[in-house]
Amino acid sequence: MKLLFLDIYKRSSSRISKDTAGGYGTENDLGDNFFAKILSKIVKNSIFWPNLSFIQLMEEFDFRGHQCKYLKTTGEYFELDEKYDFIFVCSSIVCFETEIEICKKLLKNSKLFLCGTIGTFLTHLIPDEITLISGNYEFLPEQLDNSKSNLYNLKNEKFINVLKGNPDNLNIINWNSKNLPKTKNYLLGNSRFFFPFISTRGCPYSCREYCTYPTTQGRKIILESNETVSNKLFKISKKFPKSHIVFRDPVFSINIKYTKNLLKKIGDLRLDLSFSAELHLKNIDDELIELFKYANFTGLKFGIESAHKNVRDHVNRFSIDNDEQVKIIKKLNKNKIKTVGMFILVQPNDTTESCLSTINYACSLNLNIAQFSIFTPYPGTPYYEKGNFVKNFKKFEECNQYNLTYDHPTISKKEARFLLEKAYKKFIFSKFKYFFTAQNLFQR
Ligand code: SF4
Repeated sequence: MKLLFLDIYKRSSSRISKDTAGGYGTENDLGDNFFAKILSKIVKNSIFWPNLSFIQLMEEFDFRGHQCKYLKTTGEYFELDEKYDFIFVCSSIVCFETEIEICKKLLKNSKLFLCGTIGTFLTHLIPDEITLISGNYEFLPEQLDNSKSNLYNLKNEKFINVLKGNPDNLNIINWNSKNLPKTKNYLLGNSRFFFPFISTRGCPYSCREYCTYPTTQGRKIILESNETVSNKLFKISKKFPKSHIVFRDPVFSINIKYTKNLLKKIGDLRLDLSFSAELHLKNIDDELIELFKYANFTGLKFGIESAHKNVRDHVNRFSIDNDEQVKIIKKLNKNKIKTVGMFILVQPNDTTESCLSTINYACSLNLNIAQFSIFTPYPGTPYYEKGNFVKNFKKFEECNQYNLTYDHPTISKKEARFLLEKAYKKFIFSKFKYFFTAQNLFQR
């Protein structure tokens, strides 16, 4: 069969990632002033990789002998270059209306599958002829094999939810294929090659109140065995030495015993790779830090979200106290592991003052990078479904984590953007200040 994997992006001068926010996507539109626009442009030109589930799905069909092609397109104008048996479209909230516009034009030519959980919450906007595939849809080919079925049998299905599968059966993604776009992340040390990688899916933590990962990947953890993961990394190391691997697990440390074993295995293999991952500060202990160093993890990313317990508690953020956060970040700094802290401004219980003190807190932590975004109620999350807020957006594409898309009791849309700009400006200037102070000390 001839299969097209179509990745549609709206026009934007900011980086769009469809692999973040559990596949709902984000758009790093960091503000409206000159400084923020330059920063957004730098991020756009520095980082790109497509949605990992989507590329894995293509890899699985390719492995089963189908003729697969990936195409990335921007804007609402798109014409098919040839005839395909089936078209898979990578869906996200951040490009949703643009994706649907193109899907409508393609319907007369081919059967379409819209891949991504967001579609299942916005069915009223999706033409009936399209089949929605949600969850961990990279397991769809395995599911078809197990039921001795094929894509033609799914033609009339309206909705397929793929939650489970055996990750040990997933193939290693051939990022070198001329079919795929070049992945890049120059902000992570400008390695020659950069590859995203996933070893665990799902998250059971209480912050599912607002987070999309448990909504898309489930609350039960799906683990790929340490043997399979280390074998895949060994192959990548041989083929692409000096690459940087970013683990895209929602919480890399979700099963601490598993993570420690994996790090030990990676370290034992002495791979010519460096790594980074996103995890929860609560799970970091001295042994884990040693193992991160042993396995050559150069950076860790974690959510802090707010400096205020009442703000975090209001949205069930699973967190540790500020004193503990400070201690752990100090230890990571001491061990020369780069730190990226994520903060969410304008949360429902925030005020302008609490946002400003969160920004000050972020600047005081000696992080290498701070990432600020704006609280976004996402369809499918418990917070959204309870409906205790008033929506304030025209298109779902605006729900990009960098706009205020709900009526906040005290903060306006304009002020939210101002706080975002202030956060980035203040953090970057705090880094410059630190750098020049360090230089001066050195010269003395
Ligand atoms: S820890 Fe919370 S924010 Fe992170 S993936 Fe899990 S539910 Fe989402």
